[in-house]
Formats: sequence, structure tokens, C-alpha cells
Amino acid sequence: MESKNFNSLEKDLPLIKEIKNLNEIFWINPNYKSFENIKNDLKTSGKDVKNAKDRLNRFAPYIENAFPETKKLGGIIESPLTKIPSMKNHIEKDLNTKIFGNLLVKLDSNLPIAGSIKARGGIYEVLKHAETLAINKGILSINDDYSKINSDKFRSFYSNYTIQVGSTGNLGLSIGIISAKLGFKVKVHMSADAKQWKKDLLRNKGVEVIEYSSDYSKAVEEGRKLSDADPNSYFIDDENSKDLFTGYGVAGYRIKEQLEEMNILVDKDHPLFVYLPCGVGRGPGGVTYGLKLVYGDSVHCSFAEPTHSPAMILGLMTELHNKICVQDFGIDNKTDADGLAVGRPSSFIGEMMENILSGSYTIDDNRLYKFLSILADEENIYLEPSALAGFMGPVFLSKEQGLEYIKKQGLLDKRDNITHICWATGGSLVPRNIMNEYYKKGKLFR
Ligand SMILES: *Cc1c(COP(=O)(O)O)cnc(C)c1O
Repeated sequence: MESKNFNSLEKDLPLIKEIKNLNEIFWINPNYKSFENIKNDLKTSGKDVKNAKDRLNRFAPYIENAFPETKKLGGIIESPLTKIPSMKNHIEKDLNTKIFGNLLVKLDSNLPIAGSIKARGGIYEVLKHAETLAINKGILSINDDYSKINSDKFRSFYSNYTIQVGSTGNLGLSIGIISAKLGFKVKVHMSADAKQWKKDLLRNKGVEVIEYSSDYSKAVEEGRKLSDADPNSYFIDDENSKDLFTGYGVAGYRIKEQLEEMNILVDKDHPLFVYLPCGVGRGPGGVTYGLKLVYGDSVHCSFAEPTHSPAMILGLMTELHNKICVQDFGIDNKTDADGLAVGRPSSFIGEMMENILSGSYTIDDNRLYKFLSILADEENIYLEPSALAGFMGPVFLSKEQGLEYIKKQGLLDKRDNITHICWATGGSLVPRNIMNEYYKKGKLFR
């Protein structure tokens, strides 16, 4: 029924043909606006993110108590930010492109507890739900020392409740691990792309994993249905949840602290460019929003998707958001970047990003593997394939189209002051033998 519309879309948007041919493309958002002018029109406010930050601070004593690996961070779930000069050199030579400015990586691959960016939003939403239940029951007040939640009394209370989620893997991991630790019953509805080791890890923690032979959208739909039928069950909705989004947004404040510690200046003359791997859009969207709250127009964010799962970029380009899916364009949504294997974008995120995202691009799976092996050799950093999608961003920005954007923003003479951050979204929980296979595969493409 829509094929006619799509034909006319393709006439107006020549990049769609490239996307259908599975070519890597770079798109600059024509609707990008100054954050000051649009921030009050968005569906969420800076106050929500501030509240999330405060809530995570309240929970720090619990996290520290329940997950001893977070002790050195005082129960704050945060990851390192580091410079990667050897990687920069290698990419510049390999792709014959000079990258202006400094290159950093944000290692959400090493976030405690869940080993991926999902440790931000996913864990946050479960904690918020747990707090609400306990406060309503009268067994917790926000001035308490939350370490008391790590007790049989609380576990027995939470065992009356179920948490459910649909996932391609990592969201299930983060929500499964934290929910089981708190004492909840947990059901994770996994799409076909979810890796076996993720299912095994969850089952070992007492999580019920329900497997689907179809893709992510179906797993979400079924999970939601089952959850809605049970009044004591709470469904974590990756497509529509505001809590996940604000949880991710806290990253903005944390990055600011880290850059200050590193004496890296960000202002209108020293712009920050951030490249975020994108699946359904909630993680990268939340982080983008958080960064915008902190840095306004001094930060420029782009999303990265596999050439086989370009859901968000199609939703943004066509402004049709969740009304379209990649399959409508004859694209199969089959990628080894399981964290990004999403065929239909979130409309909440698409609409939120309409004016604040600078651009978006696609990247070939083989290149993800290639970057994986290069980063391992150059910096001794091991990531899962999805997490490498950000690394093409600084290259695109330094080439013709990217420079056009930089020029339009009045930054051409300041390009050497740019700080680029590639957001490395996951990897530390990948079993060693599987990581070795990834690495070997990456070597084949070099
Ligand atoms: C989930 C995930 C993303 C993207 O987050 P979305 O909210 O799905 O857009 C990126 N990388 C990894 C490793 C992930 O697990």
C-alpha cells in the first residue's frame, strides 16, 4: 500500500537508493536547530535528567553493597573516558583521511554490572521501579541509607513482583542482572539475534529467558502482552519508556566531569563531536539529550547504524519514524551487530532527535570487525561489534560532507580544536573464545 509513497520519497531523498543498496552513507540533518530555541518544546525536561542523577546517587550505597566491583567508584556506575592516539593514527593512514582534533573513546563496554551502555538506562529504570514500590509499601524513604535494600527483607518483598523486557541481548542482560539481584522475578523476551552466551548468562542468574524465532519488535510485542496480563508485572518498554531515556541522559553530567578532569575544554570555540551506535535509539538518544543539556550548541551528536539495520536514519530522513521499518525498503535487518539489530525505530526518540541530532550514518559489518581488530592491536581495547560503529564518525566528519557541516556551523577555522568521542557501547562481558573469533574475523578484512 505504501510503495507509491516510497517511490516519491526516493525521488526527494536520493540517499534512500544508497541505503537500499546497503552502501555506507552519511546524512546531515537538515532540521538541526540551536538547542536553546527548541529545548522547551521537547517531551522531557532537564529536570527529569537531574532527578535521575539524584536517584542514582541515592542508590549508590545499595549498588556498592550489592556489586562489590563498584566499590572504587562509590557505587556510581560509570565508565572510563580515554584518549586513543594510536587508533587515530591507524585510521588516518588506513582511510587516507586526516582527522582534525583529538580522538577519545568512552568505554561503556566497561560499565560495571552489565558491560554495556544498557547499564545506564536499564538499571536506572529498574531501580526507579524498585524505589517506587518500596516507598509505596512504606519500607523505604528517600532519606534512608539505601544499602538496606540489599537484604532478605527487601528481596522477599520484591519476589512478589515480576519485571519483563523485550531485548536483542544487552538490555535483557542489564535488566535481568539488576532485577534478579534485587529479588524480582524476571522474564526476558529475547529476539532471534540474541547471542547464546547472553541467554546462558541470564539463566545462570535465575532469569527466565523466553526465546523468539523472530526479530526484536515481535519479542517486545509478546513480552508486553504477557506483562500486561499480570497486575504485579512491570514491562520495560524500550520503545516508549521515558525512564530509560533519562537514565541514559545522566551520562551528560558525567562526561562533563571527566572532560574537566582531563583538562579538555568544551565551548563554542572548542566543539565536542560525539558518535553513538544506534539500535532502537533510546541509549544514543538519551545520551545526546544529556549532552545537549550540559553543552548546548557546543556539542554535535551523530548516530551510527549497520547498513543492514538503518532504521533510525530512515525514520529521521523520511520523518515517518515508527511508521516505517527497514523491511519496507527491502532491507533484511540482519547484522552481526546484535545491539543494533532493530528494524523499526522508536518514534519517541525520532521526534526528540528531529532538531537536536547533527547527523547520522551507516557502517558495514565488515568494517565493524576490522575496527574491532585494529582497536585491539593499537589500544588493547576489546569491544563487541556493535560498539565499533562510532569509529567511522570522525572519518565522515573530516571528509567533504562532514566539512560542509562544520563550515555551516562556523567551525572551519576551529576544526583543530575538535574533541571527538566514539561511544564504545559494549563488550566486556563477551566470553574470551567469542572475542577471539571476532578478532580473527577482523584481521581478515585488513
Ligand atoms: C543497545 C545497544 C546500543 C544502542 O542502544 P539503543 O537504545 O538500542 O539505540 C548500542 N550498542 C550496544 C552494544 C547496545 O547493546
